[in-house]
Amino acid sequence: MNSKSNLKNHILYVHPKSQMMFKELIPISVPATINFIARDYKILGLFQKELSTKHIKEAKIIILDIHWYLTLPNAINLSKKIKKINPLISIIVAGLTASYFHKQIIMNSSIDFIIRGDVEVPMKLLIKEIISKTTNYESIPNLTTKNISTVHSYSTNKSDYNNFNYLNIDFFPTFKKKITQIHRINLTRPISTHPAIMTFKGCFYDCNNCVGSNSMQQKIFKRDSILKDPTTVKKEIISCIKMGYKFVNFFHDFITQTDLSYINEILNEKYSLYVYYEFARPPQDLNHLDMLMNSFKGGIISIPVDLYHGSSNTLTNFDLLKKMITKIKKNNTFSEQILFSKYFYINDQNYKLFIEKLFYETNMNIINCDFFWSNFPGDNLLKTKKEEEYNFYLKNKGKKFILFNFITKTWLFINTRSPRFCIPVLENILLILTKQLSNLTFIIYKRLYIFFKLFDNIRHK
Ligand code: SF4
Repeated sequence: MNSKSNLKNHILYVHPKSQMMFKELIPISVPATINFIARDYKILGLFQKELSTKHIKEAKIIILDIHWYLTLPNAINLSKKIKKINPLISIIVAGLTASYFHKQIIMNSSIDFIIRGDVEVPMKLLIKEIISKTTNYESIPNLTTKNISTVHSYSTNKSDYNNFNYLNIDFFPTFKKKITQIHRINLTRPISTHPAIMTFKGCFYDCNNCVGSNSMQQKIFKRDSILKDPTTVKKEIISCIKMGYKFVNFFHDFITQTDLSYINEILNEKYSLYVYYEFARPPQDLNHLDMLMNSFKGGIISIPVDLYHGSSNTLTNFDLLKKMITKIKKNNTFSEQILFSKYFYINDQNYKLFIEKLFYETNMNIINCDFFWSNFPGDNLLKTKKEEEYNFYLKNKGKKFILFNFITKTWLFINTRSPRFCIPVLENILLILTKQLSNLTFIIYKRLYIFFKLFDNIRHK
């Protein structure tokens, strides 16, 4: 009998509950890691609420992700509950937040092992040690336990990166079921969930307050950013079509961070998919936007008004941005989402005038993206010691996202059933509730516009 058949359901991956937008959201790298380990061991994926006492009693190893800081409080509590039920179980944790706070987490929880930085190979080695009971943990790179902290010597290399499987989610049946449902009923609006094509690990830009930036990658992952080969990216897009997905997400903007040959290699054909594409900065060439729109059936194109992914007031060229918005608007199958910062809108007069002028001239759809880039581990905004920073995130259960999440989930529910109703009405409500802009005239104008758009939609039904 091989190790795989021997260990049926003895290794679990559990995604801790958190205030993320959708339940159907796990870190993009989780499938890559689990599929890599699953070459030798059988692993079952579960949401926290599916995890039963029976599962815990039968399992030998539970893997939790603490990637987004919002999962931190629940993962800590969950580890304690798991150990009470089964003191012999081994709990392994990995992810960005886990790497950053590894010393604090290991001492304040019932977690046995934290893998820092890139996890694929160390995780597999660790599982082998636990299963074989050889306990030679000093040999595992990037490992923190209550007693040891081994050298951070493993980082993903480019060749492995191109071979990891980011798309297969067979190991997580309920996640797969939800994703299949979303793709079955969602028509043209991509949802920010699986699948997402991760064109690189670690951004090539270096915005001040982003954990994904090049310098933070070096600090936490001890490596440079890695770019996936364009042929692999293309293969992944084609796999998405074969797997029956209707849309694909690109949160990793390769268009502004690579050269024309790279872009060409990916965008040289028409894919039967809708796309969500998020630019980190406006593309400097209108042709690149054309190439993107020609390669997909339609979808959402998100563009910040500044050069640092919505996190700064370094504005882009007004005329170029206006041309882009107009171009997207003219194309009936795509819609734009212009990212701006409410903070700079309120505090910087030039920024405010730029946004308002752009809005009046294009009637763009806008999204306040301040929440992307504020208050996360390592952003230095708190100016506190790490211990205090850790306690801050431990108490932060994401209450400020409850309303936003409720609206987003409602939006998802209605959009999948009645997109024509949802888009004008719910987005309007969202805009009011989140008070995205404080300028009254601006808001009234937007209300009237949306009212007429809705009226127009009903008239044409
Ligand atoms: S904010 Fe966006 S563009 Fe800037 S470093 Fe982070 S991911 Fe890259």
